[in-house]
Amino acid sequence: MMAGTKMYFVRTQGCSVGCHFCDTKYTWTKDQQTTDEMDIVNRAKKSGVKWVCITGGEPLEQDLALLTVYLKANGFKIQIETSGMFYQSYLKRVDWITVSPKNLFARKGVEFSRAIMDHCNELKCVVTKNEDVDFYIDYFKNLGSDVDYKIFQPVDNSPEIASILLKREDIDDWRVRCQEQKILNLR
Ligand code: SF4
Repeated sequence: MMAGTKMYFVRTQGCSVGCHFCDTKYTWTKDQQTTDEMDIVNRAKKSGVKWVCITGGEPLEQDLALLTVYLKANGFKIQIETSGMFYQSYLKRVDWITVSPKNLFARKGVEFSRAIMDHCNELKCVVTKNEDVDFYIDYFKNLGSDVDYKIFQPVDNSPEIASILLKREDIDDWRVRCQEQKILNLR
């Protein structure tokens, strides 16, 4: 639901979830550079926007406590986009949390963190086939009952999956959305 809002993007390095369709595989391993939190804040300030979106990789595998403190102290609103497979106490400082669960695609041993649903503002489920839709409807029947915005996103903007979603009559409380940045060729 934040689509269209001007954001300063911070992409963290490191993710152990391992989705086969991941379009940011270059983020899976951490590089050796250390990033100074205040430097990120200063760069965000220069951009002139009010919102900072932290995505990955998997942001919640990183210690972003200091960064979130500095961003809030400098008047920014924070969005985090996460797979929901991890939990961090600094989430309490985050203004908008998008959970894009990867239950179906994660490596063995990486489990969905149900506690994160207490903070979730929007649930965005990537689906690769009809059965994925059934899984998520069932999984989030109770767990996601308080979430205002529930979205199905066809993997890789697949027209076939979009067509399956649009034909289903049992997902009226869900929205169907594509990745606009890929259509517009934005990075
Ligand atoms: Fe890629 Fe996100 Fe899956 Fe990690 S959780 S493998 S970054 S799609």
